[in-house]
Amino acid sequence: MPDYDVVVIGAGNGGLTAAAGLAKRGHKTLLLERHNVPGGCATSFIRGRFEFEVALHQLSGMGFPEFPGPLRGVLADLGVVDKIDFIQQKNLYRVVVPGTMDINLKAERASAQETLIEKYPAEKDGIIKFFDLLYAFCLEAVNVLYMNDPEAGPAKYPLFFQLALKDTQGILDEYLKDQSLQNAVAIYWSYAGLPPSRLSFMEFAMTLWAYLEFKPWHMKGGSQAMSNAICDAFINFGGDVRFNCAARKINVVGGKIKSVITEDGDEISTEYVVSNAGPITTLIDLIGAENCPADELKTLNARTVGLSAFTVYMGFDCDPSEMGIDKATNFICSTTDADRAYRFMKTLDGAEYSLLTCYDVDDPDFSPRGACQASLVTLQYMQPWLTVPPEKYYDAKYRFADKLIDLAAKVFPDLRKHLEEAEPATPLTHMRYLGHPGGSIYGSEHFTRETGMFLQSKSMIQGLHFTGAWNGSGGFQPTLQSGASAARQVSRLLKMQ
Ligand SMILES: Cc1cc2nc3c(=O)[nH]c(=O)nc-3n(C[C@H](O)[C@H](O)[C@H](O)COP(=O)(O)OP(=O)(O)OC[C@H]3O[C@@H](n4cnc5c(N)ncnc54)[C@H](O)[C@@H]3O)c2cc1C
Repeated sequence: MPDYDVVVIGAGNGGLTAAAGLAKRGHKTLLLERHNVPGGCATSFIRGRFEFEVALHQLSGMGFPEFPGPLRGVLADLGVVDKIDFIQQKNLYRVVVPGTMDINLKAERASAQETLIEKYPAEKDGIIKFFDLLYAFCLEAVNVLYMNDPEAGPAKYPLFFQLALKDTQGILDEYLKDQSLQNAVAIYWSYAGLPPSRLSFMEFAMTLWAYLEFKPWHMKGGSQAMSNAICDAFINFGGDVRFNCAARKINVVGGKIKSVITEDGDEISTEYVVSNAGPITTLIDLIGAENCPADELKTLNARTVGLSAFTVYMGFDCDPSEMGIDKATNFICSTTDADRAYRFMKTLDGAEYSLLTCYDVDDPDFSPRGACQASLVTLQYMQPWLTVPPEKYYDAKYRFADKLIDLAAKVFPDLRKHLEEAEPATPLTHMRYLGHPGGSIYGSEHFTRETGMFLQSKSMIQGLHFTGAWNGSGGFQPTLQSGASAARQVSRLLKMQ
């Protein structure tokens, strides 16, 4: 008898829902996490009197008890929905390019359309047609991707089969002429980590639709509270967890999983591993290329490492209203050109895109009374940070943070006056805490024809399964769902034995 039915490596979103789902189904499961807390990206840390949210700006796919989104189902299945105090964010987002545009959209289709038509009356027809297309496409996508309609095909779902792999920019160009209007509609490209010119319509459309339909949410205690709740559920289902305990090696014999060796040198026998550590780390570092099927390595080679983030976690000595912040989600850019903003993500020259999220707007108790916090983030590739010599890293980090705050201060000029704490995090920080190549927060890049739907969660190595951002789309909803799906898949295999 192996020590465990399944060893789950990594307690990020995907690892947590996979582990909890397996333990709930009665499988003896061990969860290994190299960090000292569960969550991966979905964690918090403390500086001064603030507990800073590391990652979550807006949670998609939750919906309401009477109109549940797919994520609510995943969390309900693990019994954690009632353990988390979800806070609905009133707005979808505000998007500002100082001197060019300032638009606030509510998280509701009719209202968002109306606002856009008011600002761009000449484009009324295009706006209506674009939203009609988005909704019709997403309803087909749900049937094809999630309801697994056995009759799915171009005849039944023409929009899905025609448009899923088209680039988003082409579709924006067809319906919306003004670049600032395109920017207002498509700013969620940043949640997928690629500009509309390189992002499949499927990834973009499903993101915007999921927030419009099921609304954006956050939660009391931040995403760490959700990670803790899922981890508690796992333990209550009988699972074992070891923190500060990285997996160092996965033994594969004859193409099958045999055991996992921890950094403490313990060998744990098992026939199944669910890895949340991403395929590069898992196959190359933990298993070793020499033990991997050539075809799997070939597929891995075809993928590129995705974006990381640069974030300034800021604590302020006042309420948000004193700085003029009255919306939680504020995209602040210095260009309406997404391709240009994306090019800056490969340099240290500053940012042309940023997102300032102030959690206290919708949850006044998020920070201590009379104070508030905001996370100011831009996306960044790791490469430029690797060119900074170690002795210049600290300066480079604060210089970049300064430039980012300058951009946000164009909209909120009093930010600096009230700044009490500021902690910048670079792609190197994310690599250190997550262990992912490039500090990637969305896994590999999902170019138009390499979307998450083509990725296999089951490895060619018998018993090895993947979960998390590297195995589909990045973001909270997809990764939490991917763990639930890995649990179902592995449980089915275990029950067939
Ligand atoms: C700044 C920032 C802002 C974001 N904003 C949003 C947002 O608003 N909305 C949204 O939906 N998404 C957002 N995201 C993205 C989202 O957080 C991630 O895509 C998602 O959380 C990744 O989950 P995952 O399951 O892939 O696991 P990860 O979070 O990548 O965690 C992987 C885990 O595996 C562990 N691990 C790695 N190697 C080993 C090993 N050898 N042994 C043991 N453990 C190991 C790591 O320590 C880590 O805990 C943001 C991310 C960041 C960083």
